[in-house]
Amino acid sequence: MQTIRKQIISLLKNHEMNARGISKALGIQEKEVCDHLEHIRRSIKTQKKKLMIHPFHCLICNYVFKDRKRLSRPGRCPQCKQGHIEAATYKIV
Ligand SMILES: [Zn+2]
Repeated sequence: MQTIRKQIISLLKNHEMNARGISKALGIQEKEVCDHLEHIRRSIKTQKKKLMIHPFHCLICNYVFKDRKRLSRPGRCPQCKQGHIEAATYKIV
Protein backbone atom coordinates (compact mmCIF):
# COMPACT_ATOMS: atom_id res chain seq x y z
CA MET A 1 0.00 0.00 0.00
CA GLN A 2 2.69 2.44 1.05
CA THR A 3 4.81 1.45 -1.91
CA ILE A 4 2.02 2.08 -4.42
CA ARG A 5 1.51 5.56 -2.97
CA LYS A 6 5.22 6.29 -3.22
CA GLN A 7 5.19 5.13 -6.84
CA ILE A 8 2.22 7.38 -7.63
CA ILE A 9 3.95 10.33 -5.95
CA SER A 10 7.16 9.82 -7.91
CA LEU A 11 5.21 9.47 -11.19
CA LEU A 12 3.29 12.68 -10.54
CA LYS A 13 6.41 14.62 -9.60
CA ASN A 14 7.73 13.95 -13.10
CA HIS A 15 4.62 13.75 -15.25
CA GLU A 16 1.15 15.20 -15.44
CA MET A 17 -1.11 12.14 -15.65
CA ASN A 18 -4.75 11.13 -15.48
CA ALA A 19 -6.12 8.28 -13.36
CA ARG A 20 -6.18 5.87 -16.31
CA GLY A 21 -2.52 6.56 -17.11
CA ILE A 22 -1.54 5.95 -13.49
CA SER A 23 -3.62 2.77 -13.33
CA LYS A 24 -1.91 1.41 -16.46
CA ALA A 25 1.56 2.41 -15.28
CA LEU A 26 1.13 0.60 -11.96
CA GLY A 27 -1.25 -2.21 -12.94
CA ILE A 28 -4.01 -1.24 -10.50
CA GLN A 29 -7.67 -0.32 -10.92
CA GLU A 30 -8.61 3.23 -11.81
CA LYS A 31 -10.84 3.38 -8.72
CA GLU A 32 -7.89 2.40 -6.52
CA VAL A 33 -5.91 5.24 -8.07
CA CYS A 34 -8.61 7.69 -6.97
CA ASP A 35 -8.53 6.34 -3.41
CA HIS A 36 -4.75 6.64 -3.27
CA LEU A 37 -4.88 10.15 -4.71
CA GLU A 38 -7.36 11.21 -2.02
CA HIS A 39 -4.90 10.02 0.61
CA ILE A 40 -1.87 11.50 -1.14
CA ARG A 41 -3.59 14.86 -1.50
CA ARG A 42 -3.88 15.06 2.30
CA SER A 43 -0.57 13.43 3.22
CA ILE A 44 1.76 15.50 1.02
CA LYS A 45 0.66 18.75 2.64
CA THR A 46 3.04 17.98 5.50
CA GLN A 47 5.89 17.91 2.94
CA LYS A 48 4.91 21.34 1.61
CA LYS A 49 3.88 19.69 -1.65
CA LYS A 50 0.59 20.10 -3.44
CA LEU A 51 -1.49 17.90 -5.72
CA MET A 52 -2.32 20.15 -8.66
CA ILE A 53 -5.54 19.08 -10.37
CA HIS A 54 -6.41 20.04 -13.91
CA PRO A 55 -10.13 19.34 -13.49
CA PHE A 56 -12.54 17.14 -15.40
CA HIS A 57 -14.23 19.02 -18.21
CA CYS A 58 -17.06 18.36 -20.60
CA LEU A 59 -16.10 17.70 -24.22
CA ILE A 60 -19.50 18.88 -25.45
CA CYS A 61 -20.05 22.23 -23.74
CA ASN A 62 -16.69 22.81 -22.03
CA TYR A 63 -18.21 22.82 -18.56
CA VAL A 64 -15.35 22.59 -16.03
CA PHE A 65 -15.83 20.60 -12.80
CA LYS A 66 -13.65 23.05 -10.90
CA ASP A 67 -15.45 22.83 -7.56
CA ARG A 68 -15.56 19.03 -7.53
CA LYS A 69 -14.29 17.73 -4.19
CA ARG A 70 -14.14 14.06 -5.08
CA LEU A 71 -11.52 12.69 -7.44
CA SER A 72 -13.69 9.99 -9.00
CA ARG A 73 -14.90 10.45 -12.56
CA PRO A 74 -18.24 12.30 -12.89
CA GLY A 75 -20.96 10.35 -14.71
CA ARG A 76 -22.36 13.17 -16.77
CA CYS A 77 -22.21 16.89 -17.27
CA PRO A 78 -24.65 18.90 -15.08
CA GLN A 79 -24.96 21.54 -17.78
CA CYS A 80 -25.60 19.66 -21.05
CA LYS A 81 -26.39 16.23 -19.47
CA GLN A 82 -23.98 14.42 -21.80
CA GLY A 83 -21.49 11.82 -20.65
CA HIS A 84 -18.45 12.86 -22.67
CA ILE A 85 -16.14 13.90 -19.87
CA GLU A 86 -12.43 14.49 -20.37
CA ALA A 87 -10.38 13.04 -17.51
CA ALA A 88 -8.77 15.22 -14.87
CA THR A 89 -4.98 15.20 -14.77
CA TYR A 90 -2.76 15.42 -11.72
CA LYS A 91 0.71 16.65 -10.93
CA ILE A 92 2.62 17.07 -7.70
CA VAL A 93 4.50 20.32 -7.30
ZN1 LIG B 1 -21.50 19.57 -20.96
